Amino acid sequence: MRILLVEDDPMIGEALLDTLRAEHYAVDWVRDGAVADTTLATQAYDLVLLDLGLPRRDGLEVLRALRARRSTVPVLVATARDAVGDRIAGLDAGADDYVLKPYDTHELLARIRALVRRSAGRGEPVYSHAGVTLDPATRGATLHGEPVRLSAREWAVLEALLARPGTVLSRAQLEDKLYAWKDEVSSNAVEVYVHGLRKKLGAGLIQTVRGLGYVVPRQ
Ligand code: CA
Repeated sequence: MRILLVEDDPMIGEALLDTLRAEHYAVDWVRDGAVADTTLATQAYDLVLLDLGLPRRDGLEVLRALRARRSTVPVLVATARDAVGDRIAGLDAGADDYVLKPYDTHELLARIRALVRRSAGRGEPVYSHAGVTLDPATRGATLHGEPVRLSAREWAVLEALLARPGTVLSRAQLEDKLYAWKDEVSSNAVEVYVHGLRKKLGAGLIQTVRGLGYVVPRQ
């Protein structure tokens, strides 16, 4: 799950980066509206956390430009507690939800999970497929009711595939969800995670589509 964090305040940005990384999200952080704009035009994200008061280009302008490009990426805007006008303007400009500053970490994370769930068209908070469950709130996994320990990246690969049963994801698409700009990517990492998942959850859950990528077949 890859998130773009748009925040110009260095202290708040650092704190958010730590919080989101601790949840094993792949996070890219940009500090002004112009860079946010070009980044969003070129890189796919699962969610954008957008501050509104930004240098070079206002957050609302970034949001309007994003929606004018017909992007459907979920956007969570961050506004001050007393700025109800900003929240209304943000929602009307195409934001999906808002969070109040200063952040309550637990609320922020819960809103991120809810938005990602809604944007994938799911109602249920827990993924459940072929005897396997994944719980985004606890990052737990089970196989036929028994807990299974997955590494953070195995978890992320499986979540990406379970979010779209029947859809083939290429290695590059999976890498995009696993790694932020600064992360080192080893060339066979995705294969290694898929191998680990098959060992822990059974060989049939994830299928290889030769030359294209990986898929969790629809049930
Ligand atoms: Ca700001």
